[in-house]
Amino acid sequence: QLPPFDYQPKPYNGPSADQILEKRKKFLGPSLFYYYQKPLNIVEGKMQYLYDENGRRYLDAFAGIVTVSCGHCHPEVLNAITEQNKLLQHATTIYLHHAISDFAEALASKMPGNLKVVYFVNSGSEANELAMLMARLYSGNLGMISLRNAYHGGSSSTIGLTALNTWKYPIPEGEIHHVINPDPFRGVFGSDATRYAKDVQDHIEYGTSGKVAGFIAETIQGVGGVVELAPGYLKQVYDIVRKAGGVCIADEVQTGFGRTGSHYWGFETQGVIPDIVTMAKGIGNGLPLGAVVTTPEIAHVMAQKIQFNTFGGNPVCSAGGLAVLRVIDKEKRQAHCADVGSHLIGRLRSLQDKHDIIGDVRGRGLMVGVELVTDRKEKTPAKAETAILFEKMRELGVLLGKGGLHGNVFRIKPPMCFTKDDADYLVDALDYAMSKL
Ligand code: PMP
Repeated sequence: QLPPFDYQPKPYNGPSADQILEKRKKFLGPSLFYYYQKPLNIVEGKMQYLYDENGRRYLDAFAGIVTVSCGHCHPEVLNAITEQNKLLQHATTIYLHHAISDFAEALASKMPGNLKVVYFVNSGSEANELAMLMARLYSGNLGMISLRNAYHGGSSSTIGLTALNTWKYPIPEGEIHHVINPDPFRGVFGSDATRYAKDVQDHIEYGTSGKVAGFIAETIQGVGGVVELAPGYLKQVYDIVRKAGGVCIADEVQTGFGRTGSHYWGFETQGVIPDIVTMAKGIGNGLPLGAVVTTPEIAHVMAQKIQFNTFGGNPVCSAGGLAVLRVIDKEKRQAHCADVGSHLIGRLRSLQDKHDIIGDVRGRGLMVGVELVTDRKEKTPAKAETAILFEKMRELGVLLGKGGLHGNVFRIKPPMCFTKDDADYLVDALDYAMSKL
């Protein structure tokens, strides 16, 4: 039984899952990306729960791909966007609108150092596109460095930064260098940050003119399977990259806004201050919103041309984003993520003692990964077993994420209102599913 929850979903009279699927196949293009064998028809969401067409409740442990930060239809966020919707839905930055400037001010107040200039866009890919453009213009160089397990977007430029081949298309990608992933579990150098950093130096020395435009990384790779970079890595790499004339970009699309529990921003876990920070997903609790925050010096290069984006900083999204920042502070969501996250990780580690299939439990706060292996010593990815367990967890009412190059990592990244009772239910369900495997 899922933990009790006092909410009654509305009766649903819309089309069935099969009818939607038929239409989707016809009009939405072919896709490899149906998450379940029988696609799930979600009709309503309330905080950390989702409801299907039959009113069945599910624990949403993936938050619409780490996007619903405060909770589905969180009342305060909902109210902010509803009120703004009634007044004005669109302005563009060619006019003034207080929602946009207030949101930019609030976001800048969350940033350390000199990161005070905000640009609004509509997605994570767009944020990284803009960051890459800034890095190239500011440095006067072309070469970008990213990690081999990275996902930074699916647009035609960011797909070059992305290294996972499941997302790749055979198109020209510009000058991108993918360096060895500093992955403590699977990486060739274990947790030795210095040896991984040396690979960045080598790429610059052997693969470029000696100058680069920039380096981009998440501190905990999301799509890549919740891989936390070896401790101390970013400090060393940022030094190397800056010496080569490049700027350092932190992709906070998944790790930002307190989700890691220990810090508001992922980069703080590595003790660095980037030159450019990109964000999306959780910033809007589901609204299409992204942002790039940088220093006045870097922003200056953008002033030589018009930087314009029709929907970026839309007043409804800005009002929603401002409410998200407020809710995270008011409801102390960062501390909550730390508390519930350590409970969840602790319980998953105990489960690891019981089930050999669990090769690794990792993460911080409510950004948690469980990597499944058929052989702990060889770390052989348990691909088929992961797929079976994933479906079984749905049957038990828990929606997980999947990730990693081999698709053998469960990603647990629920809305930040997820409770200890939810965590207990999830772990008990996983225990049950694994013992039936
Ligand atoms: N960066 C990271 C770290 C992401 O996880 C994603 C999306 N999964 C993106 C960028 C791209 O964001 P979007 O899908 O909004 O374009």
